[in-house]
Amino acid sequence: MLIKPTPDQQTMLASFERLLEREVKPLAASLGEAPPSKAQANALLRALADFGVGKLFTPTEHGGQGADNVTTGLLIEALCKADGGLGGLASIQDGTTGLFARLASPALREKYLPRLLAGELSICMAITEPGVGSNPRDVRTRARHDGDHVVLSGEKVWISNADISDLAIIVCKLDGAPGLALILVDRGEGGYTSSNFKKLGLSHWPTGAIHLNDARVPAENVLSAAGAGLELTLRAFERARCFVGIISLGIAQAAFERAVSYAKERHQWGKPIGAHQSIQIKIAEMAVEIDAARLLVYRGLALLDQGERCDTQTAMAKLYASEMGARVASRAMEVMGAYGLSEEDAMPRLFRDARVMTVPDGTSDIQRLLIAKNITGLSAY
Ligand SMILES: Cc1cc2nc3c(=O)[nH]c(=O)nc-3n(C[C@H](O)[C@H](O)[C@H](O)COP(=O)(O)OP(=O)(O)OC[C@H]3O[C@@H](n4cnc5c(N)ncnc54)[C@H](O)[C@@H]3O)c2cc1C
Repeated sequence: MLIKPTPDQQTMLASFERLLEREVKPLAASLGEAPPSKAQANALLRALADFGVGKLFTPTEHGGQGADNVTTGLLIEALCKADGGLGGLASIQDGTTGLFARLASPALREKYLPRLLAGELSICMAITEPGVGSNPRDVRTRARHDGDHVVLSGEKVWISNADISDLAIIVCKLDGAPGLALILVDRGEGGYTSSNFKKLGLSHWPTGAIHLNDARVPAENVLSAAGAGLELTLRAFERARCFVGIISLGIAQAAFERAVSYAKERHQWGKPIGAHQSIQIKIAEMAVEIDAARLLVYRGLALLDQGERCDTQTAMAKLYASEMGARVASRAMEVMGAYGLSEEDAMPRLFRDARVMTVPDGTSDIQRLLIAKNITGLSAY
């Protein structure tokens, strides 16, 4: 569990900070509220790949970094403090590439993995559909066998990185097989188009739809054993929830630091507002909440590193950290008075970005139901 980064991790973070200053912050500033184009996203992924981000979750035997989850969390948190949207984009690329590396056949790995690890190709994972949100068991996207190929049809929505993706792991029903299947589709092979959604915040993290219209892929693109797709999806959620918590932490830390710095500069009644009791109380409460979330999130990551099933703990981490992010960003905004509302400042964007995070990888209420189910043995869904 992370109480404090080790000296090696601190050195790594200091050198990563230089990359963030050089590559990430200027891109974020230049984008305004627009999502990155595919070319901009790929340039970012290539720059991050040079530092190892994008290959952290991929095992070393497949050419990745094989980093532990705690170290990955530290890097993604720093990235999300620099820009939550671009951090979310990179986090999806890293996690989905690692999942693909674990599930793909040697031939499929050889075909795609080197370019994924170099940041030349991008990949996403698609479960959610227009009629399917909290319950992935209801997935309606279908795949059918056609000779030595499978053909997919359906629509996925709210998919991270949809519009910049070259590849997608599609959770679907495969005719003749029980349960759910995970199938890799390649935009280059046709029948795969996408669109981007405009959402409240995190505009630098493309989120959108994937339309599959008879997308035909070789049968070896089926990544899951018969009937194993749901379990693989739920296991992927277990880890992904901690990374939603990590993104929330990065955004909350950025909002907190902005508020503290403002509280030291802004004077009212002849002294810095940070010397007034009400502001001090807000600062102390934000600091405690961020630290509490950090302990929960890094506990989840440490348990994942120990190879333990920990969906209760990762649900707690996601629930608390994402709700904390929204609360802290709101309080940080209050510290700045009217200036916290100014679009000239980063604060409104941080507020909107933090609010988005209570939804992905299961809403707050779904996390509560999962935690209570694991405690009581009684399921409310
Ligand atoms: C930024 C972002 C990124 C995302 N990235 C991805 C991605 O990469 N891949 C992907 O597949 N999906 C992704 N999603 C989709 C996300 O996982 C879903 O939005 C989420 O699971 C909730 O589904 P829904 O929005 O359809 O809500 P619904 O399931 O329709 O829920 C609506 C409301 O009903 C409540 N509710 C639902 N069921 C129950 C129940 N049994 N008991 C009590 N209350 C209930 C929910 O808590 C919520 O308040 C992303 C979403 C966002 C916002």
